[in-house]
Amino acid sequence: MNLVLLFPEDLVAPDRARLAGRRLAHVREVHRAAVGDDLAVGLLGGKMGRGRVRRLDGEALELDLALDQDPPPKLPLTLVIAVPRPKVLNRVVAASASLGVARIVLVNAWKVEKAYWSSPRMAPENLRQQLLLGLEQAKDTVLPELRLARLFRPFVEDALPVLLQGGTGLLAHPGAEQGPPRVLAAPLTLAIGPEGGWIEAERASLQGAGMHPVGLGPRILRTETALAALVGQLALPFQVPCTTPPPLEGRS
Ligand code: SAM
Repeated sequence: MNLVLLFPEDLVAPDRARLAGRRLAHVREVHRAAVGDDLAVGLLGGKMGRGRVRRLDGEALELDLALDQDPPPKLPLTLVIAVPRPKVLNRVVAASASLGVARIVLVNAWKVEKAYWSSPRMAPENLRQQLLLGLEQAKDTVLPELRLARLFRPFVEDALPVLLQGGTGLLAHPGAEQGPPRVLAAPLTLAIGPEGGWIEAERASLQGAGMHPVGLGPRILRTETALAALVGQLALPFQVPCTTPPPLEGRS
């Protein structure tokens, strides 16, 4: 947890928060904070800044807040992911939130097992919890939009064209010869297939809607690895430029 995420109900005054439960335990046991320490905090959907610890014991963590920073901007990216195995789902959803994806669509596909849709991990509370963990990890306060598309065809025919308007759609497939393009029109939409991959008919439908196949070479990557590699490449033009470090010989 790199950011203690606060909710409106934590606020006991406009500039003071009182927390208990998981966040209290984490600050005590992992941060090993003490009264007077400053913690990175952010209000869900709002500003970030610091919380100075004024009380920390087995019952509560109380923080004096100074929230004066904007959260980092989202990537102009919609991720369309065929529902992965429940075990993988949590990691994929949390990682997508950490990467700064603006919108996530969990979509059905031929090779998505029906049972995945009724997994407790697909429950809204769990999905929200994974998004929150992703925000805490990355130091962000704004939840990505999350949509479920239980029917592939209506999604491709009705929703996808709206997402693709004026932007770029990419369909990740290990067999694709083209790598991610260097110049991209935002907003981007990136589709990542299920464990067994997209079937040919799905690829044809997605391409028919305007998605361009992209590959990362001949290696078959796990969903979460492909996701991180693709978003890493696609995100570059949209990242805040970093300060160039001085040349190595110039350092003491
Ligand atoms: N056996 C499946 C296949 O051949 O398509 C592997 C699916 S992989 C576990 C899950 C998804 O990750 C794929 O559908 C694709 O979207 C993405 N992916 C994995 N490796 C990739 C690569 N080398 N290039 C592009 N996308 C990849």
